[in-house]
Amino acid sequence: MLRGRCYCNSIQFEMPDKAAASSVCYCDFCRKQSGAPMLAWAMMPEDAVSVTGNPKVYNSSEDGWRSFCGLCGTGLFFTNALLKKMGMMQVRIAALDDPDAIIPQIQVQTAERVKWMTSAHELPAFERFPG
Ligand SMILES: [Zn+2]
Ligand SMILES: [Zn+2]
Repeated sequence: MLRGRCYCNSIQFEMPDKAAASSVCYCDFCRKQSGAPMLAWAMMPEDAVSVTGNPKVYNSSEDGWRSFCGLCGTGLFFTNALLKKMGMMQVRIAALDDPDAIIPQIQVQTAERVKWMTSAHELPAFERFPG
């Protein structure tokens, strides 16, 4: 089992360590809702994810819902009509206690990717803030 939580610990979740699919998403919705250039998602069966606490749910697009902690703001889950029909949901991989436990397999919505993300891995890198 993998465990995850929001920043303030008000919301915790558990899920199996195998995802049906996993991706990094660059879409405008993920970007605007998170304020970050990309999000990493694990697709899980809805009934395999147990949540403690009460995430707020925001109807973020026509048939999309994004769940987040109402206290600290951490985004956690996503679902839409198609996922619901499949009995699936998306969980933010970076909210896991061990974010390396599920490795994204594909990148999606690159058509909406922030341009500088294409070469972000080439930027000067420091293990800590540069002195
Ligand atoms: Zn929180
Ligand atoms: Zn997205």
